[in-house]
Amino acid sequence: MAQPGRFPSPAYRGRFAPSPTGPLHFGSLIAAVGSYLEARRHDGEWLVRIEDLDGPRCKPAWAGNILRTLEAFGFEWQGKPVYQSQRDALYLNALDSLEKRGMTYVCACSRSELADSSLHGIEGPIYPGTCRNGLPAGRAARAIRLRTESRRIAFTDAIQGEIGHDVAQAISDFVIRRADGPVAYQLAVVVDDAEQGITHVVRGADLLLSTPRQIYLQELLGFGTPRYAHLPIAVNAAGEKLSKQTAALAVDAERAAQWLAAVLRFLGHAPPSNLPSQDLWKWSFEHWNATLVPQLISASGETLLARK
Ligand code: GLU
Repeated sequence: MAQPGRFPSPAYRGRFAPSPTGPLHFGSLIAAVGSYLEARRHDGEWLVRIEDLDGPRCKPAWAGNILRTLEAFGFEWQGKPVYQSQRDALYLNALDSLEKRGMTYVCACSRSELADSSLHGIEGPIYPGTCRNGLPAGRAARAIRLRTESRRIAFTDAIQGEIGHDVAQAISDFVIRRADGPVAYQLAVVVDDAEQGITHVVRGADLLLSTPRQIYLQELLGFGTPRYAHLPIAVNAAGEKLSKQTAALAVDAERAAQWLAAVLRFLGHAPPSNLPSQDLWKWSFEHWNATLVPQLISASGETLLARK
């Protein structure tokens, strides 16, 4: 319900949340275009959030570079972009609330110790619970984990359909504060989406399996769950994600119209080849239709799975 003196929250508020680890690349442009066109289609708002919590990998110069490229492409966003690196207090507040309710524990295990785990989940080795009941003698705390309970989390993705798993079994107790200091992506994104009033998340399907973890956290923190749509990512014929090098092809604003047309084709749309480049956004606003977006696309451009 709208509060006096405040604008009611919009029916649609989307976002694009790039990590500034390099220039805008084909994969991130897909997420930018898909989230932007969905927001425009719904007469909604579209925000940009710079996800720069991963200190060593993120560089302020890349954030500036990404924003300039988005601008040169003609994207228009509401307000000033927010930077996760400036929002520590919000994340720590959420962490504190989980800690106070006994939902977290400190963990001493290193990445290499975990790689030896004989338990396997949907994203590889899963945490065997070594520190769940206290740190082993003589070991120092490194990360903070969420104490997950066995419970199925399911949602309907607007593109990928019904998705769900038991987070405790498929993922296990996951890290919410990293050993090197910052809160983990899963917690930051949940806090940000709630704090920014995001109603619709449109992003790459490489994050599809993160979504049940995020919904799990939303439920613990008393936040609403946005609607999700996960865009296809380019995969090889075996359905595996393309190597970083291929997906990370940088886009250049000088050829913005060609890149935009390539993304639209990737997302199941067919802009006329003789369309003047300055008319491409207009065409996209008029023709964007999320039901045309395929679920998965192979490197050769063919759709691997039929739509629903
Ligand atoms: N920062 C993430 C990325 O660049 C996207 C996170 C999200 O959209 O939830 O892959």
